[in-house]
Amino acid sequence: MAGNITFTMIKPDAVANGHMGNILNDFIQGGFKVRAMKYTWLTEAQAGAFYAVHKERPFYGELVGFMSSGPIVAAVLEKDNAVEDFRKLIGATNPAEAAEGTIRRKYAKSIDANAVHGSDSDANAEIEASFFFSALERF
Ligand code: ATP
Ligand code: MG
Repeated sequence: MAGNITFTMIKPDAVANGHMGNILNDFIQGGFKVRAMKYTWLTEAQAGAFYAVHKERPFYGELVGFMSSGPIVAAVLEKDNAVEDFRKLIGATNPAEAAEGTIRRKYAKSIDANAVHGSDSDANAEIEASFFFSALERF
């Protein structure tokens, strides 16, 4: 059975460019319920730990630098088939390849500054949600 939660971040570029409100609205209009949310600023060490799975990739240093360059919004979202439906809502990693109407197509400028994160599996959604939120912070 498909899981019903996913984890997201509104990345530093989207927050800095004033898209936080529109993106949250897109999540909610897309049928997702907010189960947890916080506004925070990751240290390099925290961003590095979150993206540790990409440690060997050539863009890892750039990714960690970017994700710790300004405040973000982290959230746990709920919907049937959350992981897959959310990745449809945000669009392809590279905004130039993202479908019309998707969040990355509307608000992202480049493959590194791509506005939002979305979990890629049910297992990672739970790991990522637990990275940011305690049980007391999830409703
Ligand atoms: P995210 O995990 O942020 O939701 P994604 O699952 O679509 O994005 P991943 O392959 O997990 O893509 O890559 C993680 C992030 O690393 C991307 O969102 C992007 O910001 C950055 N990234 C991926 N590929 C590249 C690349 N070729 N050059 C620069 N940055 C990249
Ligand atoms: Mg990913």
